[in-house]
Amino acid sequence: MGTALNWTYFDIVARYKRMRGFNVFFPQGWDCHGLPTEVQVEKRYEIRKGDLPPEKFRELCIKLTEENITHMREEMNSLGFSIDWSTEYRTMDPDYYRRTQLSFVQLYKRGLIYRGEHPVNWCPRCETAIADAEVEYADREATLSHIKFKRHGEDEYLTIATTRPEYLPACVVVAVYPGDERYEKQVGKKVEVPPFGQVVELIEDHEVDPEFGTGVVMVCTFGDKTDVRWVKRHKLPVVKLIDEKGNMSEAAGKYAGLTLEECKRAIVDDLRKAGLLLKQEKLAQSVGACWRCKTPVEILTKPQWFMRVLDLKDKVIEGAKQVRWVPEHMRQRLIDWAESMDWDWVISRQRIFATPIPAWYCTSCREPIVAEERQLPVTPAKDKPPVERCPKCNSESFEPEQDVLDTWMDSSITIAVHAGWPELDRRLFPADLQPNGTDIIRTWDYYLLVRHLALLGEAPYRTVLINGMVFGEDGRKMSKSLGNYVDTTMARGKYGTDAIRQWAVIGASTGSDIPFSWKDVDFGYRFMRKFWNAARFAGPHLNAKIAKLDPKKLKFRPIDRWILSRLNRLIGQTTGWLEDFQFNHAMGAIQTFVWHELCDMYIEEVKHRLYGDDLTADAARYALYHVMLTAAKLLAPFTPHFSEEIYQTYFGKDHPYPSVHMSSWPEVNKKLIDESAERAGELANLIVGTLRQFKSERKMALSRELPSVVIYTSSRETAKQLKEVGDDIAGTMRVGKLNIKVGKPKLAERVLAVEPEMAKLGPRLRADVRLIVQALREAKPEDLAKQLAKGKLKLRAGGKRFELAPEDVRVIKETASAGRKVEVIDIQKPALTLLITGPRSGLVRRRTKSARRARRRLAS
Ligand SMILES: [Zn+2]
Ligand SMILES: [Zn+2]
Repeated sequence: MGTALNWTYFDIVARYKRMRGFNVFFPQGWDCHGLPTEVQVEKRYEIRKGDLPPEKFRELCIKLTEENITHMREEMNSLGFSIDWSTEYRTMDPDYYRRTQLSFVQLYKRGLIYRGEHPVNWCPRCETAIADAEVEYADREATLSHIKFKRHGEDEYLTIATTRPEYLPACVVVAVYPGDERYEKQVGKKVEVPPFGQVVELIEDHEVDPEFGTGVVMVCTFGDKTDVRWVKRHKLPVVKLIDEKGNMSEAAGKYAGLTLEECKRAIVDDLRKAGLLLKQEKLAQSVGACWRCKTPVEILTKPQWFMRVLDLKDKVIEGAKQVRWVPEHMRQRLIDWAESMDWDWVISRQRIFATPIPAWYCTSCREPIVAEERQLPVTPAKDKPPVERCPKCNSESFEPEQDVLDTWMDSSITIAVHAGWPELDRRLFPADLQPNGTDIIRTWDYYLLVRHLALLGEAPYRTVLINGMVFGEDGRKMSKSLGNYVDTTMARGKYGTDAIRQWAVIGASTGSDIPFSWKDVDFGYRFMRKFWNAARFAGPHLNAKIAKLDPKKLKFRPIDRWILSRLNRLIGQTTGWLEDFQFNHAMGAIQTFVWHELCDMYIEEVKHRLYGDDLTADAARYALYHVMLTAAKLLAPFTPHFSEEIYQTYFGKDHPYPSVHMSSWPEVNKKLIDESAERAGELANLIVGTLRQFKSERKMALSRELPSVVIYTSSRETAKQLKEVGDDIAGTMRVGKLNIKVGKPKLAERVLAVEPEMAKLGPRLRADVRLIVQALREAKPEDLAKQLAKGKLKLRAGGKRFELAPEDVRVIKETASAGRKVEVIDIQKPALTLLITGPRSGLVRRRTKSARRARRRLAS
């Protein structure tokens, strides 16, 4: 569903811009390489990456990727995404990774890529370096151990609290906050680190938190990123304590070969036996883990390839500021990320399914030899280096680079590759739109920016359009294990693609997280059914001859001018919202217009004219034709299949374009925006709606005639407007005689009965309610009504006194005007009074039992 959301955004923009006359380049690429595929292959075949020769492992990855692409391509076609499939590429194909390698070679030549030995984040399960952006932080409960360090040459001890005692063998110094009074006298002196007793110095550093533990920290290589900064700042030695699998190295002495976890337990045991463990306590801690397999990340130093992103920090921030972000506040996420970076980007990975790093090493002096541009693509394991002798030591022996590139090295040049790089088609660069989810701002958006700035000196996109994440109906992140998972195939089968697209649009404002909701999908489906039924009714009345009539010669009624005015306002609003990527507002406005104004009102209000053959009938047909066709066009970017079906079934035959998606986007006709027609139309809708409700409450057929309706208003202006739409109201609601009068009606009222509100009185009075019913029945209704008018009703029944408020009872009245029985409806805004004379049977049937009883009593 996340992909459906993301792609619906792109597709709406592409379809809308095409209708606006743009030649839209909507490419498709598959980012194939990377850990997720390798992890999936390891799971499916129950193997680890080292169990097979790299080529065999790679083949399994390619097979899985092909399967995934086939499935996703089918899904994308079913969801109606209007991609230009002729542009399709896959990053695992030599033609693509040739370009990834070319970008590596060019940046290496410019000194922006280098080989170095620096600490990196390391996943011991995946056995690879990973970038900062791939480390995810999660809260865990850790154990804080208070450990005694012997002061060197004395019989005193210093206590240090740590969550990672397994790192004790790699402790190279201990540190306190500068000027901490507790330790001032010991700074510069030495302590013995248990369990091996290596002697290290106590130093001062401003990054020590004096509030944490005892205020003394041990600096190890490397427990975390602060250790890395301390080692650099104080030029400390590095002990390589763990290996690539996360096991203890020789440097751990008798603990060598244990896992980190086993080593921790063994060291704590030994400390306890030696009486050096003072106490242990629980501590909530935020731990960095591998984004893919959730294993806690360790810090390791190994020679790696890096891209010099820290040097580009200012350019990246400047670039992010110049680009338009939708929504605006997402820009800050990228800026914050760029500002927080303190390490260069490690671009080498110790994995298999990825672009090979185009390099070799001299076996005698380790000098790296990078490929020439003309050689690319290369596979160093198979191909020869570009030189025969090492330029440094003249050796003739080389070995291939085994490492591969971070998959973001592939996907961070996609925009240039789409534009044909290295032969750049300037029409396609920079891209107008880069759409992606909030989750990859600090990866994709950042890497795209930094890499294009490095390669081409400019930002690769003009606008970044961000979509939120999809949550399950229970408000939790959608996942198979939580059982709140829905995939597009399930939803499509039940409601069709266009209902899913409507959910994606109206479920949340652009950039916000969005809950998946069957209710929203169902609403989208019902909306289309409503429009379809309306088109099926109106379709037979509409044809090309009608569309081509000269509107100047037609007799439009105010109700026609109302719908045409509303339509033109809708065109203007929808266009504005689409330009601003506010899809939910645009879709909401179209839905409201089609459902309530077009289907519920206008079509009902012109039904009685559609069968005629005069100029007002032609005017109704003409307006209906244009309103329905325009609505179908406005919907085309959102519901492409549905719009096409409406268009081809009812309008396509009359048009030069075979598809709604080839027709042009509707333009506002300002001459048709008519405020006075809108007011008249709204009045007509108000009266029609009121009369419709009147009939339905009385279970009358809508087609049944109301002999007479009189509308009173105190405003001459309103009366004038009502008179203009009088025929439409009368025609729509089958009113025999419709009168509009200025002033107030003279009414005679008679109270027929005062009935108890059982829902109120029942729970309050319980058995006594029987007495009240009896008392109300026996009293004179007029007397009861008079008392009620004063605010209270006092009753005596069964020897008890009761007091009722106006809301405890219902007063049934009969109203007469000029001697005839009428029903009165008061409307507040604008102030109108309707006097309705119903067909006799219609009114009699609605009498309640007690009103009938009351009338019989009055008669007797
Ligand atoms: Zn991992
Ligand atoms: Zn050499």
